[in-house]
Amino acid sequence: MSQPTRSVFRDTLITLCVSGAVAVGVLLCWATWDAWSSGKFTDASFWQGIATVFAATRSGVVAILLCCAIAALGVTGTLRRFQNSIADYQGALARIPNASPTAKSGEDSIRNKNIEYSEATALARAVDDVHRAFSDRESRFERSKLRLRDQLNQRTQEAEEAGARAHHLAMIDPLTKLPNRMMLNEALDKALEDALAQRAIACALFIDIDHFKRLNDSLGHELGDRVLMQVALTLRQSLRDVDIAARLGGDEFVVVLRNLPPDSAKAIVERYLGSVYTALRNPIDLGGRTTLITLSIGAALYPSDAGDAAALLRAADSAMYAAKQKGRNRADWFRKEILNDASTASQREQSLREAIANKQLTMVFQPQVRTDDGTPVGVEALVRWKHPKKGMIAPAQFIPLAEQSGLIVPLGQRVLDLTLSQAKRWEARELNMRISVNLSVKQLEQQGWVESLQGLIESYGLPASIIDLEITESAIADDPIAMEKTLRNLAARGFTLSLDDFGTGFSSLNYLARFPFHHVKIDQQFIHDIDSPASRNVVQSIIALGHTLQMRTIAEGVETPQQFRILRDLGCDEVQGFFVAEPMAPELVLTWWQERLEATQFLSEQEWKLAATNVHTISPGRSTSAAQPPSSLSSQ
Ligand code: C2E
Ligand code: CA
Ligand code: CA
Repeated sequence: MSQPTRSVFRDTLITLCVSGAVAVGVLLCWATWDAWSSGKFTDASFWQGIATVFAATRSGVVAILLCCAIAALGVTGTLRRFQNSIADYQGALARIPNASPTAKSGEDSIRNKNIEYSEATALARAVDDVHRAFSDRESRFERSKLRLRDQLNQRTQEAEEAGARAHHLAMIDPLTKLPNRMMLNEALDKALEDALAQRAIACALFIDIDHFKRLNDSLGHELGDRVLMQVALTLRQSLRDVDIAARLGGDEFVVVLRNLPPDSAKAIVERYLGSVYTALRNPIDLGGRTTLITLSIGAALYPSDAGDAAALLRAADSAMYAAKQKGRNRADWFRKEILNDASTASQREQSLREAIANKQLTMVFQPQVRTDDGTPVGVEALVRWKHPKKGMIAPAQFIPLAEQSGLIVPLGQRVLDLTLSQAKRWEARELNMRISVNLSVKQLEQQGWVESLQGLIESYGLPASIIDLEITESAIADDPIAMEKTLRNLAARGFTLSLDDFGTGFSSLNYLARFPFHHVKIDQQFIHDIDSPASRNVVQSIIALGHTLQMRTIAEGVETPQQFRILRDLGCDEVQGFFVAEPMAPELVLTWWQERLEATQFLSEQEWKLAATNVHTISPGRSTSAAQPPSSLSSQ
């Protein structure tokens, strides 16, 4: 029997003996207690009590000893079988080559094997755990890899979409949805390439909305945006699919007409321009209110006007600038001379600056007379640029430049100085002569301008009442609230105010009614067309309106006796124009004034009315009624 088997056997027997002895002891104690409590130990002797206890526990003790013996036999049998199994195992182990070479005996081998087994089992379990952990990790890793891949795909798609959107945005004007400058440049290059390859013509139109800033400020940016959208729509409407309309920014647009046949290119462009101008005759609906807009357009052709895209755009831009100079709301073809003009714009600004400083500005004055008796009531001061080389330059040639550059402020100051010093010399106050001066909105916007005007007029010792300030409707529209304040301030100081060129701008009844104007000047264009019933109706309405608002009405640009008669019959209060006198040098004014006064003194009202049919007898100004520019003008 091996040592462990023996010790197990011994341990088992000891356990059985001890448990048997304890069981017997418990049984005896129990029986002794029973005998004691039933009084058996008191009546009999001690030994009799012991005998009673034994008698009572005999069968129990035998039963316990018997159980222990049976248990010992069972344990012995089990151990024998266990020993046999170990022997078999040892035999099997011995048959395994290299199996535990260090094991000297079967028990050692078993121990070693057991140890190895348990180590292997632990190892296997650990490996299993590790594997499980790994596979767990792996599947988690796999899942997160898939998730990452999904995210990556999604991000890539988003990035691609964002890129496409950015590209689209970079090429498209978000407001009008027209191509922007970038896309235009690409498209223009392509258009020129095609024109070259197909011996065709490409045309670039540079388009600018007239007075858009003013419109935008008065309507508000939201409605200004609607105007831009409407212009975009109008420009696109009559275009062919191959053509391009683009927005450069602000209120500037470019249209490119492609592949035009050389012999009909200009005709096609002009047809397109015609359709644009026709469409813009209708007011633009701004949701509840309407507005009319006009465009200035410059047109240039490739290859005749320019050799590449940039030069073509420059040429069209210069032609547009020329159209603006000529009074806006028109389209002009590019001419080489225009480019020269435009390229010297900064030089012209510099020379205008010098003109103001070097006293090259001079004034002419155009009389205004009453229609009922022909009495002279005033003169309008009109500026001229007496250029040392180019001669007399008309204001239309430099006032827009002065407005753009801000030079209008020093220019206006010079005009006031010249006019007031002249008024002083004429003793205008004694003559009851009203002197009208044209103002730019930029002057009125100057801080403290009203006070400085008052100071100036006082320095000449003249009353404010002889000065009439002419302001156009468009000047008011820029900032009506501020303008109302300024105009009320001027009126309170005794200046009179005229609303100039009425009917051409916003023709707002609101302006007429709200602002403290003393005179309303009916624009020349209505007088020019006064033969037409439409213009006559407009003139009649303006006169009625003016009178309702207690204003005197003055008609400008009156050139013919017929125009004069119609105006007088319609009740217009005063007239100004070549029919009465053209603008004249200051030294001629007094003579003219005196002659006119004398002439009217000798004419009765009836005679004056009759004389109005014959200009020669009553007008010392022009002797004919032809609508020619005043002789003091020369184009630059
Ligand atoms: P405006 O204030 O409407 O001045 C009237 C213009 O009509 C003047 O042109 C005048 O010479 C012209 N005119 C007068 N009678 C007739 C006529 O019977 N027929 C025709 N066809 N024209 C006539 P001008 O002097 O060339 O002035 C043009 C514009 O320049 C003026 O228009 C005014 O807006 C501006 N301007 C003139 N002087 C000044 C000035 O000192 N300051 C400012 N800010 N603007 C001025
Ligand atoms: Ca005027
Ligand atoms: Ca005018």
